[in-house]
Amino acid sequence: MVVGVLALQGSFNEHIAALKRLGVKGVQIRKPEQLQDVSSLIIPGGESTTMAKLAEYHNLFPALREFVKMGKPVWGTCAGLIFLANKATGQKTGGQELIGGLDCTVHRNFFGSQIQSFETELPIPEIAAKEGGPPSCRAVFIRAPAIIEVGLDVEVLADVPVSSVETVNSSPIPNEEESIKSVRKVIVAVKQGNMLATAFHPELTADTRWHSYFLKMVPEIEDGTSDIISTSSMD
Ligand code: GLN
Repeated sequence: MVVGVLALQGSFNEHIAALKRLGVKGVQIRKPEQLQDVSSLIIPGGESTTMAKLAEYHNLFPALREFVKMGKPVWGTCAGLIFLANKATGQKTGGQELIGGLDCTVHRNFFGSQIQSFETELPIPEIAAKEGGPPSCRAVFIRAPAIIEVGLDVEVLADVPVSSVETVNSSPIPNEEESIKSVRKVIVAVKQGNMLATAFHPELTADTRWHSYFLKMVPEIEDGTSDIISTSSMD
């Protein structure tokens, strides 16, 4: 089995390295036709406007939307989460094209600018129940988005209290600020059918449980035809 990793920009090499630690090959995807060779896809973090422009340049949007619609497993991390969301809000979203499919609204730079990036110990009950290991993971948030609204079919896998974050929205859109201030917790990881999305960067830590969890969403592995990830956990 090979996992596609969208390689237009951002932390695609880090995802490929994390997959390798689990004995799985990650292949770089840059052209629409390359999506035909993979049964699952990771969309990495980076800068979502740049990624959207490159995806448009390479005419990737129709093929990416088709991939999601076909029910193939897709995991978006950070900018990848923004890409998968049905709606993005927050600074500088104007006209940015999204793949969509994930029934949620994402605030693009919810936690502030680059300098407000942070790491936290994130409780992950569902992942720990399925993958073993400690009840939380070290989560790296880099100019991170947050999910501020979800549809009924969306399963929340992790959230963080807003009060624990010192700077929220350094310069938000005025009306939006009010609704965001009233939110006590924001969602940072979700699953909806074939889609997984995280606002942080599991590919930047040694804990491989998020990758292992995603790989279990890929049918060949669920069927038990491969056992390559059975020994995964922290390394
Ligand atoms: N907030 C960034 C964006 O809008 C995403 C940051 C990330 O992927 N680390 O693209």
